[in-house]
Amino acid sequence: MRLSYERMTWQEAGEASGRLAILPLGATEQHGPHLPLSVDTVLAGGVAGALAEALGAVLLPALPYGEAATSEGHPGTLSLTADTMARVIADIGRGVHRIGHPALILLNGHFGNRAPAAQAAEMLAAEGIAVLCLDYPGLEDLAGAICESEAAGNHFYHADEVETSMMLALAPEVVRMERAVAEYPDFPADFGSRPMLLRELSESGTFGDPRPSTAEKGRALIDGIVAAALLEVAAFCEAHGIEAGAWQR
Ligand SMILES: [Zn+2]
Repeated sequence: MRLSYERMTWQEAGEASGRLAILPLGATEQHGPHLPLSVDTVLAGGVAGALAEALGAVLLPALPYGEAATSEGHPGTLSLTADTMARVIADIGRGVHRIGHPALILLNGHFGNRAPAAQAAEMLAAEGIAVLCLDYPGLEDLAGAICESEAAGNHFYHADEVETSMMLALAPEVVRMERAVAEYPDFPADFGSRPMLLRELSESGTFGDPRPSTAEKGRALIDGIVAAALLEVAAFCEAHGIEAGAWQR
């Protein structure tokens, strides 16, 4: 990854300040018996890196904490409140704007971050700072076409074939496939409408069946997400009058 803040000097950051900036939003959260707590951070960072490469955009360091209160029933989850998360994103957005980047793209890898990301985008929009929130665009269609197992439902991909395959593509050394189990929770009718611990729904922490996961499927999922994201970025830049030079190679 050429334009990554984790490798760049301040002079290089200055030279790249006319480009779009991408912030991966992760979490420190349980992901079943076979995956590490860092899954959402690793996946958001990997997808954001591929997108940054395709766009010639600058990749910012991933946020390794997110709003994950629903997973606090399992050890290993550390959550920010939604308000804290929104403020952290907004502070980074203001910095990105001050440096000169024409817009901030949020690449979210964790369901609990959707609301705080939207809140931060609203705060920044009120200050004239353009923000695009990407939430693995196209994932539902891609998962249906690429994965063998049934999704757990409710637009919820957690420690399943989707996330496990993407982890096998990006960080196979931390995946313990021999510990993978399938679990299909019964979602109550009020799922998502009230605070709820996911442990009430899934003892293992898995939502779906990770066992048919492969790195090949993971690569296809990532490529498909990046292709869909490029369309969203193009529409976003057009709507905000951001010149092609800021995001095309
Ligand atoms: Zn996850």
